[in-house]
Amino acid sequence: MLASWRIASRTRTVGQASALSLRVRLRPTLVSLRALATTAETPTGEASATRSVDRKPIVFGNRGPSLQDFLLDAQLKKKAVDAVAAESVPYLEQPSPAIGAGSKYYVEVYGCQMNFNDTEVLVSVMDTAGYVRTHTLEEANVIFLVTCSIRDNAEKKIWQRLSSLKRLKTGKHRDRAPLVGVLGCMAERLKGQLLEKDKIVDVVCGPDAYRSVPHLLSMTQEEKRGVANVMLSADETYADIMPVRLDPNSVSAYISIMRGCNNMCAFCVVPFTRGNERSRPIDSIIAEVRALSEQGVKEITLLGQNVNSYRDTSPAALEMTSGIGDALSNSGFRTIYRRKEGGLRFAELLDKVSMVDPNIRIRFTSPHPKDFPLDLVQLIAERPNVCANLHLPAQSGSTDMLARMRRGYSREAYLELIDTIKKTIPNVSLSSDFITGFCDETEAEHQDTVSLMEQVQYDMAYMFAYSMREKTHAHRRMQDNVPEAVKLRRLSEIIDVFQRGARAKNAARVGQRELVLIDGVSKRDPSRLRGRTDGNHKVILENAAVLDKLSGADTKVPMRIGDYVEVVTTSATSSTFQGTPLARTDLATYYREYGPGSANTHTVSPTTM
Ligand code: SF4
Repeated sequence: MLASWRIASRTRTVGQASALSLRVRLRPTLVSLRALATTAETPTGEASATRSVDRKPIVFGNRGPSLQDFLLDAQLKKKAVDAVAAESVPYLEQPSPAIGAGSKYYVEVYGCQMNFNDTEVLVSVMDTAGYVRTHTLEEANVIFLVTCSIRDNAEKKIWQRLSSLKRLKTGKHRDRAPLVGVLGCMAERLKGQLLEKDKIVDVVCGPDAYRSVPHLLSMTQEEKRGVANVMLSADETYADIMPVRLDPNSVSAYISIMRGCNNMCAFCVVPFTRGNERSRPIDSIIAEVRALSEQGVKEITLLGQNVNSYRDTSPAALEMTSGIGDALSNSGFRTIYRRKEGGLRFAELLDKVSMVDPNIRIRFTSPHPKDFPLDLVQLIAERPNVCANLHLPAQSGSTDMLARMRRGYSREAYLELIDTIKKTIPNVSLSSDFITGFCDETEAEHQDTVSLMEQVQYDMAYMFAYSMREKTHAHRRMQDNVPEAVKLRRLSEIIDVFQRGARAKNAARVGQRELVLIDGVSKRDPSRLRGRTDGNHKVILENAAVLDKLSGADTKVPMRIGDYVEVVTTSATSSTFQGTPLARTDLATYYREYGPGSANTHTVSPTTM
């Protein structure tokens, strides 16, 4: 009976559902949750009429019942009461397309690349559940904000956005008001608070619970109150979900290989919003790389909060434990947690990923400096399609400050690693993160950061004034005692140091041959093309016809997005090069022609041009 109703409703409404019609349609397919919701909130199991009247939000987290327990319990009770014949348990399986039934959802993504990749997982989950993505806010039945929590400003932006969405929930819009979902790190950090304030938010979902989003949408409509699932998982990696790329025309793609962080740096909220480290099995990652290769993708970035702490512990991987890439970067690095033995490490993964397609560039972010053992550094040097472009977040140049930050290394250990990397990988390009004004930072400690930056000469740096986050070690034990003006003055000093260094470094690269992957057109001048070097420097090129080394023909060919092009750089700022294209090529051809390590740079004399 239930099944036949579902089929009938699907054929009637696909593609034309409003939030209201969705609510009506879903009701017969839902186990009646209202009384059972109160059961979840009252340990005695007795339904509480008061709670039902109060419409208190339902929050599933690590300290209470999980959504799965709750729904299973609901289903069992329903069966006991109604003596319904046994059938599969809804909401514990892949959601059926009848849940969404053509309702439209709109997504805004904030924050880091992990959030963008998580959104690709969310889109896959929503599409499977029968929802349809729209790029027009006003026509959406559901609006998602995928949020970031790393700094106070990131959260302020979301609060502002929520207040601007109020207009869609009130006045003349009230009848067709969309559901609003806050997802991601801010959802995980603030949990039920997001549901309480202004009552704009209907669904809150943490980064480990995206599979449950269609169920949460159904539940909030059925219950007419806010619902949150902020359960952090010990093993969720979404390995079995093929993400739907947000920009299918892009030459670049991202693959999440691990999630979470075990490091507990004193300033960082990530372990509280993303949970503990866990890694996807290598086989599922390789399958995704192959699929992207077949789609013509030319650059893949492997993602993880601690991407190079990757460790595949699937039963097959544990059997194949080789010890490759197992060590820390050097004897000056340590971990705050007990490192586990066995499994396949990041060096093994990078080895396999880079072999899938020699014409796909591989990058990875964001790594921790502690996980660059020599065998990994050597692999990066040897593989032409693994970019010689490493992110090494230092955070500070002062050993005392690094200890307060609980980073697990000294200035000396970090510089020793930089030295090893520079010696092993010719022309490596380096980037880093720095924080100014962390608790008790002295002027001398700040100067240590300045001198470290001058010594290393980064190609790119992400620099921020410290913003204290609740729950962190610093919030519990330390004082945010550096005045804002001092934080900002120090920030502007390190930005200046970085820019001077990068400008000088880039100036020295002018006149060199670079292998550039064309990824779009210049924003400032759409008649010119834009691309990236192996070292991830932006290059703007004239859009001219070039020799084609791939066909060997004498005639010149136009360049297209997705082409690898040999380019000679003609000028540079601290962030961008201008260049002249020489020839269309590919990564393997370029490597054969110019030899090992040549994916980086070569000086071009007038005769070779
Ligand atoms: S390594 Fe430290 S800074 Fe990086 S995510 Fe983990 S806790 Fe945060």
